[in-house]
Amino acid sequence: MAYIEPAPIKDKENPLESMMERFNIAAEKLGLSNEVYNVLKNPAKQVIVSLPITMDSGEIQVFEGIRVIHSNILGPAKGGIRFAPDVNVDEVRALAAWMTWKCAVVDIPYGGGKGGVRCNPREMSRGEIERLVRAYTIAMIDVFGPDKDIPAPDLGTGSREMAWLMDEYSKARGMTVNAVVTGKPLVLGGSLGRTEATGRGVMVSALTAMEKLKINPFKATCAVQGFGNVGAWAAFLLEERGLKIVAVSDISGAYFNENGINIQEAINYRDGNQGTLEGFKGAEKLSDPMEILALEVDVLVPAAVEDVITGKNVNNIKAKLIVEGANGPTSFNADKVINEKGIMAVPDILANAGGVTVSYFEWVQNRLGYKWTAERVNRRSDRIMKEAFDHVYQASQKYNVPMRIAAYIVAIDKVAQTYNYRGGF
Ligand code: GLU
Repeated sequence: MAYIEPAPIKDKENPLESMMERFNIAAEKLGLSNEVYNVLKNPAKQVIVSLPITMDSGEIQVFEGIRVIHSNILGPAKGGIRFAPDVNVDEVRALAAWMTWKCAVVDIPYGGGKGGVRCNPREMSRGEIERLVRAYTIAMIDVFGPDKDIPAPDLGTGSREMAWLMDEYSKARGMTVNAVVTGKPLVLGGSLGRTEATGRGVMVSALTAMEKLKINPFKATCAVQGFGNVGAWAAFLLEERGLKIVAVSDISGAYFNENGINIQEAINYRDGNQGTLEGFKGAEKLSDPMEILALEVDVLVPAAVEDVITGKNVNNIKAKLIVEGANGPTSFNADKVINEKGIMAVPDILANAGGVTVSYFEWVQNRLGYKWTAERVNRRSDRIMKEAFDHVYQASQKYNVPMRIAAYIVAIDKVAQTYNYRGGF
C-alpha cells in the first residue's frame, strides 16, 4: 500500500502569519473589542479526514482532506477546494479567513471557508480524481450544505470536480441540490460568466485603480504571472481594454515580448499544448521565471500562488500598480517596501473577489430556479467590484492606510458589526 509523505515544512513565508499580521493592524485601527478579536482570530470549525482511494493500479492510497470554516457570521461559509501536493492546514486556515474578508468586502451574505486535498491531480487519472472528489464529499456531508457551507473551484479543481461533488451530495440527500456548490458546468446550473469572473474582476479593479493613479490604459504595459483561469482571463480582458501585455508566465516559465503578446494566441497555444506555454513562439522565454516580477511595467498582476512577492525580492519591483489575482501573493514582509515605494497594491481580498461574487449569483439563480443572461451577470458583478473598490479607497483615505489594510478594515468592521447584533453561534 502506498504511503504519502507528510507535507514538507515550507521554507518560505507562512500565509497564515501574513494574514494575521494585517488582521492585527486593521483590528487595532478599528479599536476592535477583545471579544470580537478572539472570535475572528480563530476558525469556527476545522475538519481533517483520511480518504482511502482505490487507484487504477488496484492499490489503496490514503489522502488527507481538509475543510476549514473560518466564519459563518455573515451567512453560510463559502470558498473553494484546492487540490495540490503541498496543501496544509495553515494554508487552508489563511485561505478560509481570506474568504471571510473577501465576501465582506464585496458585501455578499457569506462567511468564509476553504478546503484542500493533498494530492497531485496532474499525476492522477480522471477516474482517480472522481473517486477522490466523491469520497471527500461524503466525508464532508454534514459540513457542506446550501445553507451551511458552499464549496467552489480553486487551484487544481474546476467545473468537472464541482459536478461530481454536486452529484454525490445530491445522491446522499436523495434529491438534486445544485445550490450546494458553485462553479458548476452550465448544464448543471452553473452561471454564465462564472469562468471568467475572477479575471474580469481583476480587470475592473486594475482599470479603476489606473483611473485613480492617472495611468492611461492605452499607454500602459502589464505583466501577468500565472496563466491559469485567473491569469489568462485577466490578461485577455486587460489587453481588450488597451493594455499591452508584455509578459505572461506559467509553470513552464516566463515569456516576454516588448511589443505585446497576443493573448488569444497564447491561450489557443496553451489549450493545444497540454495546458502549458512551453514552446510558445509569440514571445521570448526569460531565463528566470521570477524575472517577470521585476519587469519595467506599469501594472503587475500576480495571479498564481501565495508568497511570490516577499521581503527578498520586493525591492526589484518596478510596477506602479500591483493587482492581486492570486490569494496571498504578497507576504507581510513585503508590505513595508511596497508602501515606501508608493506602489498601489490592490489586495487579493478585493481584486480577486469577482469569482466569489459570481458564485453568489450562481447560488441565487439555483435557489430561484432561474437563469440570468451573461450581460446581467457582468453588469452586476462589475458594479459590485467598482463599489467595493471605492469603499476600500475611501477607507484608505479616512484611516490613512494602504489599500490592503483598508480592505481588512472594511471587512472586519462589517463582520464585527454583524456579530455585535447577532452574537456568535
Ligand atoms: N476559489 C475562489 C476564491 O478564492 C472562488 C471561491 C468561491 O467562488 O466560492 O475566491
